[in-house]
Amino acid sequence: MKKSIFFATFALFLCLLFTAVPGGASAKNKSLRYVGLHDRLLPLESVRVIDGDTKVAIDEIVIPLHASLEKKDGQLFITKNGHKITYDLASKKTTSGKDPAKGMPIVEVDGKLFISVRYLAKETGFQVDYLPGIQTVRMYRTDYQHVSHPAFEYYVKSQWKKKQAVAASKKANVYLTFDDGPNAYTMKNKNTLRKYNVQGTFFFLGKHMKKHEDIVISVSMDGNYIGSHSMTHDVTSIYKSPQSFIDEMSGAAKMIQDITGEDARLLRVPYGSIPHVTPTMREELNKNGYKMWDWSVDSNDWRYTDQQANEIIKNVQNGVKKADGLGNRDIVVLMHDRSATSKALPEIIKWLQKEGYEIKKYEPEQHSVVNFLHDKNL
Ligand SMILES: [Zn+2]
Repeated sequence: MKKSIFFATFALFLCLLFTAVPGGASAKNKSLRYVGLHDRLLPLESVRVIDGDTKVAIDEIVIPLHASLEKKDGQLFITKNGHKITYDLASKKTTSGKDPAKGMPIVEVDGKLFISVRYLAKETGFQVDYLPGIQTVRMYRTDYQHVSHPAFEYYVKSQWKKKQAVAASKKANVYLTFDDGPNAYTMKNKNTLRKYNVQGTFFFLGKHMKKHEDIVISVSMDGNYIGSHSMTHDVTSIYKSPQSFIDEMSGAAKMIQDITGEDARLLRVPYGSIPHVTPTMREELNKNGYKMWDWSVDSNDWRYTDQQANEIIKNVQNGVKKADGLGNRDIVVLMHDRSATSKALPEIIKWLQKEGYEIKKYEPEQHSVVNFLHDKNL
């Protein structure tokens, strides 16, 4: 821990800096476009601006439009309200009725066909207008009742505001993680978690698991997650080469799997991934199916004696509040299986619960990327 404290803190700062703050108005991103149909905003995934024109995947837009889509003899037909748009797959030409289209209203992007919303609307009997205030291309028919553009805009904006408020009120998940066990304090921490009806994530060392197999079993029996923290924790031997690195990390992971029968694909490298983990080492982790967590809050618990347990509580409280304020939804707290931490843990849990945070253990199915390298594969 100590050696790389500066790097870790710096990396954490970068992590937080680049974490997108959720709840920002969707419309603040200038490149986003929405498609409106009469009085609703269509929940389309594929809307894009292509060649300065709002386009949407054909197979997606035909559904809410109740248009029919047919592929026959190398041609694609979109039929709606007695209008027919034809796209020739070989010549890539679009025709509406008998009129060839000007330009390219239908284009292929990443193997998918996209159609211009404006073209589609006009050729199938809709009016179409762009509402810049909500970055929306709105399709509507004059013979079909609908609210005015300003009223529609007002409605959409108020819906967005509501959504943002809900997102902002949701408290973050907090993952309590414990390194360097198993040892006697692992049992204390495990019992505290159990007392407050929460679970944690433990990163164990192979050299300790050899002596305390019973603790490994006991921690696992309570439903906590256990991951590898290397065999030896020895910085020189772990990071000597990509081979020694993967042997150290997977050695302990395999021990966990052997003892508990549980998945142990998440691991934490000793001293944090920066500056020790090289691109080749990353590749090794990836190849072997491992995920790697650093942390988003450092409790700095290793600095304190039992009498200073309060400092650990304060560090966690301040760190979690800060990360939460920056919009981090999955906050990973670094702690260790040691005496002062065991003293601080009950207060930490009580505070998190009082503040409404959700204390969770690592769930492989809900993996979230928490590493200083910003490596999305880990
Ligand atoms: Zn450690």
